Amino acid sequence: MPALSTRITTLNDDGSDGWEVFYRARQMVAEGHQVTELTIGEHDVRTDPAILDALYAAAKGGHTGYAMVPGVAALRDHVAARVQQATGVPTTRTNVMITPGGQSGLFSAHMAVCNPGDTALYIDPYYATYPGSLRAAGAVAHAIQTRSRDAFLPQRDALEAAAQGARSLLINSPNNPTGTVYPTETLEMIADVARQHDLWLISDEVYDTQVWEGSHISPRALPGMAERTLVIGSMSKSHAMTGSRIGWIVGPEEVVARLIDLATTTTYGVPGYIQDAALFALQQGPDFEAKIAAPFLRRRALALEVLSRQQVVRAIPPGGAMYLMLDVRASGLSGEGFANALLDTHQIAVMPGESFGTSAAGHIRVAMTVDDDRFVAALQTLCDFAKGLAHD
Ligand code: PMP
Repeated sequence: MPALSTRITTLNDDGSDGWEVFYRARQMVAEGHQVTELTIGEHDVRTDPAILDALYAAAKGGHTGYAMVPGVAALRDHVAARVQQATGVPTTRTNVMITPGGQSGLFSAHMAVCNPGDTALYIDPYYATYPGSLRAAGAVAHAIQTRSRDAFLPQRDALEAAAQGARSLLINSPNNPTGTVYPTETLEMIADVARQHDLWLISDEVYDTQVWEGSHISPRALPGMAERTLVIGSMSKSHAMTGSRIGWIVGPEEVVARLIDLATTTTYGVPGYIQDAALFALQQGPDFEAKIAAPFLRRRALALEVLSRQQVVRAIPPGGAMYLMLDVRASGLSGEGFANALLDTHQIAVMPGESFGTSAAGHIRVAMTVDDDRFVAALQTLCDFAKGLAHD
């Protein structure tokens, strides 16, 4: 066989391991074991039947041919209005491209702004696909470390040191895996560094409907930022539509025009009936989105209650998203060691912090994606397990 491209063979080169805990849990489930899976970011409810009815009606109605590559006009208009309302930045359909999910948006945004070999920055801990997406676009992916004691918020000195000569910076608030929501001061600092170093800012806002404290602030709304910010949106988390593969990029008109060229040569857009269903889902309004987010808000409160009764496991303050980042260093184990031992002894699967980069070593990420009773019981077991180890 002739050699494969370096681009494809180095996609997964970020050196993070720890995913074997996830695969091992899946294997145990396949073998018939009862495992409480608190691993990936997938709701414990399926897409709402009303959205599926809209999808079916659109397909039956004939929207099964090629759809417009940048997205159907009505959906682009709706997304533009939504983003304008949230940010105050004038936004029209020419600023919006519909994408097959946020993941495609992340890749496309970096394709649009990075030349091969350009440095693309991202914050560690990070959503697992980030470094690969940046490398897929030909960029050199460079992680900026953060610290548990800063709630994993990026600090100005680290950002400035990395920004020299870089092309872009990818941020994510509310954050996966840490559950932190970037405060205004952090976003203003980031915007300041981006302006000073002439960086593109790629803002992954796929958890923007899951904010438990304060409110979601998009950096696109900050002074001088609309011209250098590309916002990644998705309906996966906000509307429990992970499998429908639908999201968007919002940015300057000139960039969107180029992104349409990219989509024409790659995905050729998103199925029309999925876009019609997405428009229907968005038209259900904020109450519907609050209903989808409600279980995580509820479980977060339950978790804080369980955690408040002990001193061994420390939570990073969970401002948003469907995860808890827990510091388990007092157990004496690494995140990976803890996750493996918890799976073996109690059949509870969590993600080691090490799977999201080096900054979250000694931590675990808990997805709040099982029903309340099971979730509370699992968290209590986890805390007791950590306590037992700490006393050994
Ligand atoms: N960004 C973040 C931070 C995520 O957690 C995810 C999914 N887990 C995505 C992007 C991609 O989501 P999707 O492609 O389903 O929109």
